Amino acid sequence: MKIGVNCGHTVSGAGYGAVGIIRESDHTRLVGRELMRLMQAAGAQVTDCTIDHACSQNEYLEKAVKLANNEELDWFISIHFNASKAHAGQGAEVYTYKGRQYPDAVCVCKNLENLGFRNRGVKEGTGLYVVRKTKAKSMLIEVCFCDNQQDVNTYKAAGGAGGIAEAIFKGFCKHVDVPGAGETPIMGTSVASADQLNALLLSGNLQAEDYLHLAEIFLEEGEKEGVRGDGAFCQSLIETGYFRFGGDVKPCQHNYAGIGATGGVPGNSFPDARTGVRAQIQHLKAYASTEPLVQECVDPRYKYVAKGCAPTFEQLAGKWAVLGYSGYASLEAARLANDTYGHKIVKLLEKTIV
Ligand SMILES: [Zn+2]
Repeated sequence: MKIGVNCGHTVSGAGYGAVGIIRESDHTRLVGRELMRLMQAAGAQVTDCTIDHACSQNEYLEKAVKLANNEELDWFISIHFNASKAHAGQGAEVYTYKGRQYPDAVCVCKNLENLGFRNRGVKEGTGLYVVRKTKAKSMLIEVCFCDNQQDVNTYKAAGGAGGIAEAIFKGFCKHVDVPGAGETPIMGTSVASADQLNALLLSGNLQAEDYLHLAEIFLEEGEKEGVRGDGAFCQSLIETGYFRFGGDVKPCQHNYAGIGATGGVPGNSFPDARTGVRAQIQHLKAYASTEPLVQECVDPRYKYVAKGCAPTFEQLAGKWAVLGYSGYASLEAARLANDTYGHKIVKLLEKTIV
């Protein structure tokens, strides 16, 4: 999924936005950049189609469309704030080509309405240059009226740019295949209980009695860092072959996710089970989040991870697990079959809770 985002208007001179109680050009950037961050975190490829300077309004529009049309985008989204003569206009609206009622556009309006704005609906936007000239499906979002006090109050109460970006993102990714949408976040509260996790373990290895104390530790350590401990446990089932080991890592290393182990290298060792689990949880958090650790870092490889590069289990494929697939010609093929390293973790997780 490739998405172009245009933060509406330039930062000064020709093409500058409306000036109400708040300045449109400032807030299109705040909302648009946050939207891009959310989409990138979800795994979408994002192209910034924002133009800061132009000699004329036309040049600004042409430049933005050129950026968009340079890429094979699936969607083009332009962020704006409205204004009206008597400062009485209120509410959110979305413009599309020929006023097409794309479910995503309808949902963006609905989500903005849920924040307290009047819902002005999805409207005919063929007259708008960026809607008409972009090759991709496009929507131009007028978040609210920047010159209306009530709208500005609602905007602030909704969390400002962050709240708006989230509402747009959620409305949007409900309907399109943004990779992270519909996937299982690594951060969150465990759903499976220790008993359910152990039942899963025994279903794959009847000789695993020596490891039945671990599930509880995974749940406890996960909770401390805000990581799905149940998901981490399922990851360990895959990494250790249901605690049969037999790969490069030996049971006495207390390393249940192959941290530091690569083809013949035994990887890191931890003094006890709890420390090993804690390191795994911290390593997962490094992939999933840019938030700092709650506990002291015991993961020797924490520092090497690009923080937040894989917010969902599905996205660990090709990152935590370098190849991330087996039995397929490519990672892309495994992804299409929903059968990457991360999908396998999620499938196990689903097994525990049915
Ligand atoms: Zn505008």
